[in-house]
Amino acid sequence: MPKTTSPEGGKISGFFCQLFGHRYVISKQVTSHVKEYRCAHCHKEVTTSAEGKLAILTEKLKTVNATLHEMYVKRNRRLAPIKQPKRRVA
Ligand SMILES: [Zn+2]
Repeated sequence: MPKTTSPEGGKISGFFCQLFGHRYVISKQVTSHVKEYRCAHCHKEVTTSAEGKLAILTEKLKTVNATLHEMYVKRNRRLAPIKQPKRRVA
C-alpha cells in the first residue's frame, strides 16, 4: 500500500495522536543538545527549547535552529585537531 501524505490522512493521524500521543522521530540534528522532531503520524514538528523541553517548531524557532546549526558546524570544524608548529620568538 503506497504511503500518502494527504491532509485527510493527517486528520486521522491527528486523532490517533490525541488518543495515543505523538510518535516523534528526529528530523534534524541541530546541535549535540538541540534536535528537531516530527511526528510520524500527524507530521507535527517540535524542537528542543532552551529549557530542554519540547516546544512547537515555529518559523522563528526554525530560523534560530538554522543559525545554531551553522554555528555548531563551524565550531566543530574549528575544533578539529590542527597541529601548528610552535614558533620561537628570539
Ligand atoms: Zn502526532
